[in-house]
Amino acid sequence: MKKAKLVSIWMLCIILLVGCIQPTVSYETGIAEMDNMKLHFLNVGQGNAIFIEGSEGQTMLYDAGGDGEVGEYIVHYIRQLGYDSLDVMVISHPHADHLNGAPYILENMKVEAVYHPKVTHTTQLFERFIKAIKNSGLSLKTAKAGMEIPFGNIQVKVLGPCSNHYEGFNDYSIVLRVDNGQFSALLTGDIEALSENEILASGVEVQADILQVPHHGSSSSTTQDFLQAVNPMYSILSFATDNKYGHPHKEVMERLVEQGTNILRTDEHGNIVITYQKNQFIVETQQSISDANNKESSYIDPKTGEGLIKGNKNSKIYHMPDGAHYSSVKKENIIWFKTEKEAIQAGYRRSKQ
Ligand SMILES: [Zn+2]
Repeated sequence: MKKAKLVSIWMLCIILLVGCIQPTVSYETGIAEMDNMKLHFLNVGQGNAIFIEGSEGQTMLYDAGGDGEVGEYIVHYIRQLGYDSLDVMVISHPHADHLNGAPYILENMKVEAVYHPKVTHTTQLFERFIKAIKNSGLSLKTAKAGMEIPFGNIQVKVLGPCSNHYEGFNDYSIVLRVDNGQFSALLTGDIEALSENEILASGVEVQADILQVPHHGSSSSTTQDFLQAVNPMYSILSFATDNKYGHPHKEVMERLVEQGTNILRTDEHGNIVITYQKNQFIVETQQSISDANNKESSYIDPKTGEGLIKGNKNSKIYHMPDGAHYSSVKKENIIWFKTEKEAIQAGYRRSKQ
């Protein structure tokens, strides 16, 4: 038994670990050692951009939009991971907040295949996108429900769009279910209730461990039925702080909380990187990494060598030894960590008390 008194004594035995993580290089490239799939939800401001790397070194970019010089940012990010090309680029739909970095990327990086829904836009941006594809010697591939996108040992099923015509561009969004056999993600672009319902009605498997919450958390999307069917462990929202659309909308946040999914948001967490190892998800965020730099102090019971930071497997919250709820975690839910960094990297949040 670990008594509070003992704990406070052992807290004096804090060992400072040497070694420091640089936020910009800590999303280690998996080209050599990764036997898994890694999803990078990039913090692009008001927009969407998700980079996927697989165990065979295969690479995909789903959406390339956001604020500022987002194309340059994405190219820099991918190069920093050690990749020089993209096997697949998917642009969910032609709105600028999903597309505006794509021309720069095509002009500056080798891309093997580009997918888009069967719809065109009249903007100069869209024209530049089409021109960049032609200049790369590519032809735009059309994605539609029922297709699969070749991506090595990762299965990529296209669940939407199900129809040929929609009133707005959002419902044209290409919806992908990405599955490497260990975990799955549903990427939804900006689909609204109409496309969500069509996908549900089509009877395909939508359940996924990770959900890119549709349309930046807009109330026109993420219906109760859709969310329940996907039943994600993690829900990722991509949007800028104080955006003019009011994203994410309160109703959606309430539905996500009600569903009991872990919510991660690019405005708060920065870049969010998720992978899965040894039966657990590993979540790294820019915020957690910078926090972790200050949280490498070890809390170890010298008798047993075990950590003294108490995680609750159920709530994914960790309690410091002097925390108010330290002793109230049920025995069967306890997981021990030696450092806060270890807890944060395992996807746990610090208890507020
Ligand atoms: Zn959007």
